[in-house]
Amino acid sequence: MRKIGLIGGMSFESTAVYYRLINEMVRERLGGFASADLLLHSLNFAEIVDMQKAGRWDLAAEHLAGSARALKTAGAECVLICTNTMHLVAPEVQAAVDVPLIHVIDETARALASKGLNHPLLLATRYTMEHGFYSERMKMLGVDVMVPDADDRTDIHNIIFNELCAGTVLDTSRTRAIAMIEKAKAEGADSIILGCTEICLLLDPSGLPLPGVDSTAVHATAAVDFALGHSPAKQAAA
Ligand code: GLU
Repeated sequence: MRKIGLIGGMSFESTAVYYRLINEMVRERLGGFASADLLLHSLNFAEIVDMQKAGRWDLAAEHLAGSARALKTAGAECVLICTNTMHLVAPEVQAAVDVPLIHVIDETARALASKGLNHPLLLATRYTMEHGFYSERMKMLGVDVMVPDADDRTDIHNIIFNELCAGTVLDTSRTRAIAMIEKAKAEGADSIILGCTEICLLLDPSGLPLPGVDSTAVHATAAVDFALGHSPAKQAAA
């Protein structure tokens, strides 16, 4: 089994989901007491949030690249950034190590394609919805991403940071998110991307008005596929 390296803690609420899913899948596939051989570097999320708010993506890139190097030095054979938002600095992180970075956008695009879906609504942080890195990479992979309107983007961003990253899951927020999905469905969306690794705490992708792809689950699955011998999704051209 190949050793998985996780850059986590962004937030620890979702990293805990990654840890459980990866181990459950390894046990399911190998049986008995099998569990994943993995290394986790859990970062201090407060420092990351400060860099995000200040727009210091350069510092964040250095920080995450350092984490990837440490994981590689400790024996990791692949690296995952356990957050969609911080894939904004994925190119710098990949450049820091010579093991594959399993990329959440590529894996999510592959999951959509396997279901014949190509016009999803993206529910994510403001950074993921509004910086070009996510929709541009999706476009290169043949996926035309829709984002909610400005008010809805503010609401989903606040639900992620003020509630889900703080361990709070509210029915009122679930209702609010489902209303966004209904609106997108009426506007022609064919699917939903749970494009933030905490949204799976709020929404069950199988019980939504449109087919849902959970970035946490597809990313964790790709890590297990890699660990047990499959290749990661074909990378989008840089
Ligand atoms: N985990 C979240 C994501 O997938 C948000 C936290 C962060 O800003 O990294 O985007």
